[in-house]
Amino acid sequence: MQYRRVGKSGLQLSALSFGAWVTFGQQVGRSQARDMLALAHDRGVNFFDNAETYNNGVAEQLMGDVLADLRFPRDSYCVSSKVFFGAVDNPLPTQRGLSRKHVIEACHQALQRLRVEHLDLYFCHRPDPDTPIGETVAAMDTLIRQGKVLYWGTSEWPADAIHEAHRIARENHLYAPVVEQPQYNLLHRERVEVEYALLYEAYGMGTTIWSPLASGLLSGKYNDGVPADSRLTQPGYEWLRESVLGKGQERLDKVRALQPIAEELGSSLAQLSIAWCLLNPHVSTVMLGASRREQLEHNLDALALLPRLDETVATRIQEVLRTD
Ligand code: NDP
Repeated sequence: MQYRRVGKSGLQLSALSFGAWVTFGQQVGRSQARDMLALAHDRGVNFFDNAETYNNGVAEQLMGDVLADLRFPRDSYCVSSKVFFGAVDNPLPTQRGLSRKHVIEACHQALQRLRVEHLDLYFCHRPDPDTPIGETVAAMDTLIRQGKVLYWGTSEWPADAIHEAHRIARENHLYAPVVEQPQYNLLHRERVEVEYALLYEAYGMGTTIWSPLASGLLSGKYNDGVPADSRLTQPGYEWLRESVLGKGQERLDKVRALQPIAEELGSSLAQLSIAWCLLNPHVSTVMLGASRREQLEHNLDALALLPRLDETVATRIQEVLRTD
C-alpha cells in the first residue's frame, strides 16, 4: 500500500480506501462486511468511509459492529462520518442540515453507531443554505476541541463556500476544514481539477475522492445493459440510473473507447480507472466501493498498475475523453 498525506495536514491515508455507500446494510450483510473490512485492513487500507445517511445509520452500525469484532488496533485505521442528510426518512428540521444542533448530535450518534471514541474525519456532506457557514465552522471547532473529531472537511461544497469557511476560521482562530470529499473519475473531473485548484495551494487541502468507477460504469459492466444484481437495480436508487448512464450514448461510448487502453496494459478498465485517479497529486485517497469481496480484491490490485501509467497512456486517455 502507498500512503498519502491529506493535503498539508499530518494525516496519512492509504492511497486506496473503502466506503460503505449503497452496499453496507443493503447488498452487503455482516459476514461479507467482515470479510471485506478484514481484507482491506490486511492489504494496508487505513481509511473506512461512512455517513449518517447511508442506509439510515445501518451502514455505520454494521461497520462499527464489525470493526469491534475484528479488534483492529484503533490507531491502525481511520473512520469517518458525514452529516447533513439525516439518518431517518423524512427528517425533521433538527434532524438534518449543518446547524450546531444537528452537527453535534449527529456526531454523538455516529460515535455510538461506529463504536469509537472519536471520528478521525467528519464531513459536512453538502452545503446547507439554511445555516450560516460560521455556525457550522464553530460547531466543528467545538467537536475538535472536545476530542470527538480529529479532522473536519466538506463534501461537494462550492469552492466559494470553502473559501468563506477558511476566512471565518482564520479570523476567529477556529479549526478550518482540511479535506474535501468530491466525486472524481475519468468522466467527472471539472470540480477537482479546475474549481478547487486554488484550495490546494491556498489552504493545503487534500481530497478523499468518491465514485472512482462512476458507480461501476467504468468497469464496463453496463456496456451491454444493466445486470440484474448491480447497483442500478437496487431499490431506492432508481434516481441514480440517469446520472450514471447519462441520457444518450455518450458516456457508454467513452467507456467502450477506453477499454482497449486497459487491455493493452494487461489490466481491466476498472483497475485503469482507479489507478488514473491517483495520477492527480491532489487526490489523497481513492475511496473504493464494492458489493462483493472479489471486486474489492480486484480493485486493490489497481495500485500495481500506477507505475505503468506514463505520459503516453495519460495522453491517449485524454484523447478518448475529448472525443464527442
Ligand atoms: P465506485 O464508483 O467504485 O462504485 C462502486 C460500485 O461499483 C460497487 O459497489 C459495485 O456495485 C461496482 N463495482 C466495484 N468494483 C467493480 C468491479 N471491479 N467490477 C464490476 N463492478 C464493480 O465507488 P462508490 O460510488 O461506491 O464510491 C466509493 C465510496 O465513496 C462510497 O462507498 C462512499 O463511502 C463514498 N461516497 C461519497 C459520496 C459523497 O457525497 N461524499 C457519494 C458517493 C460515494 P455493484 O456490484 O452493486 O454493481
